[in-house]
Amino acid sequence: MNAMEIPAPGQPLRPVVRDMGEPGEQELLLQVAACGVCRTDLHVLDGEIPARYPIIPGHEIVGRVVAIGPGTEGFAIGQRVGVPWLGQTCGTCSFCLSGRENLCDRPQFTGATRDGGYASHVIANAQYCFPLPDGFSDEEAAPLLCAGLIGWRALRLAGEAPVIGLYGFGAAAHILAQVAVWQGRRVLAFTKEGDLDGQAFARSLGCVWAGSSNEPPPELLDAALIFAPAGELVPRALKAVRKGGKVVCAGIHMSDIPGFPYADLWGERQILSVANLTREDGTSFLEVAARAGIRPVTQRFPLAQANEALAQLRAGTLKGAAVLVPEGAL
Ligand SMILES: [Zn+2]
Ligand SMILES: [Zn+2]
Repeated sequence: MNAMEIPAPGQPLRPVVRDMGEPGEQELLLQVAACGVCRTDLHVLDGEIPARYPIIPGHEIVGRVVAIGPGTEGFAIGQRVGVPWLGQTCGTCSFCLSGRENLCDRPQFTGATRDGGYASHVIANAQYCFPLPDGFSDEEAAPLLCAGLIGWRALRLAGEAPVIGLYGFGAAAHILAQVAVWQGRRVLAFTKEGDLDGQAFARSLGCVWAGSSNEPPPELLDAALIFAPAGELVPRALKAVRKGGKVVCAGIHMSDIPGFPYADLWGERQILSVANLTREDGTSFLEVAARAGIRPVTQRFPLAQANEALAQLRAGTLKGAAVLVPEGAL
């Protein structure tokens, strides 16, 4: 199989040819049709989160089953499935036993601790794979598997929140905005200063206001969801939420949060983080995404151009989500 691997933290991806391997107990061998490019892949590349190296990144995988390991039920050869970030959990720690497998003490993460989808093929634990709704093409379905799903978990943590602000209008926010608008919420989008294209994109998806994260919004928010990895957004978002409001940090890594006056937190405002996902997040989100009829906007790159896709993500020049497509699947 062909893949793009990160040899060590801080080193660019390089093409490799690897033995495909065989699916073990409870595993599926998939031919990759598309794999989304996520901000977390940059954190793995930069060595900012725990990972093993060399590693094949990629945790928004759409693939088709080509071999089924022993003891695996409920999957058929040729079936399309999605593979998310949560690759495996222990099933026995206190978090797993209390319905919080996203916080598992002994997890495996796709594209960080086990090889992911920047490849022509991948082996995944079948119990953590999702069937995918038919209404989405392979390319459209890919960003649902992390950008959409983690965004969904963040939105659920925000609670009722009729007025929400999305900070950082990339892959996750452009999907979440569509879901939240469909739910009847008022959605405000905050971009980097001067990103007029990003602001116009947000308005085109139904946001009632789009502006710079430096400026105060025209109305106070019930909740702010932060997708950009910039710690300075936390105190800014806190100033934009009303009493009892929540600031939800949805990224896996963020620069340090600067100090701020206690008065900005007072009034029962809350700051919280979202970590990983549960399988229930996945099934409920995919069902909602299909019902809401959302349309992910994607930018396709051949697998061999993974470094270019990541560079554009880092530079903030992508519109929507970058998706890698292996040569054979083009
Ligand atoms: Zn566990
Ligand atoms: Zn991700």
